[in-house]
Amino acid sequence: MSLDGTYDDGNIFAKILRGEMPAARVFEDEHVYAFMDVFPQGRGHTLVIPKHSTARNFLDEEPERVAVLFQGVQRVAKAVRAAFNPDGLTIMQFNGAPAGQTVYHLHVHIIPRWEGVPLGRHAGGAMADMDELKDLAEQIAAKIS
Ligand code: AMP
Repeated sequence: MSLDGTYDDGNIFAKILRGEMPAARVFEDEHVYAFMDVFPQGRGHTLVIPKHSTARNFLDEEPERVAVLFQGVQRVAKAVRAAFNPDGLTIMQFNGAPAGQTVYHLHVHIIPRWEGVPLGRHAGGAMADMDELKDLAEQIAAKIS
């Protein structure tokens, strides 16, 4: 899918927001919802999405919603750091299939990084165990401030 197009409310993140698909929820407020990535590129890989948005990508989003989304991203990123004490954090966001995007509801990746551990494959590899993801989600949730 290119940068242009219409929002499909059948996408997997829209289903998660409607409660039609399970997710290991980390945090939500009135603007954002954070949950564990099921194909993690590293331990603690978390996604943050806007709750009331039909933006497929960053360019689609209303400017005032970008601000609240990234306030949520920063809040969750600080909790990820507090939970796992990583050496670094990769925060990334893909726009359009040629750039690597696979789900067309705007989202931001937060991936804890450790010295010498390469970033895992994007949107592939092994599906994580949901109980383990829920445990990681609880550890992050406990550090949200
Ligand atoms: P992107 O490729 O940037 O669009 O990112 C989509 C992300 O969603 C990938 O990292 C996938 O591993 C992840 N993903 C796909 N399906 C699910 C799901 N049901 N729950 C959580 N994460 C998912």
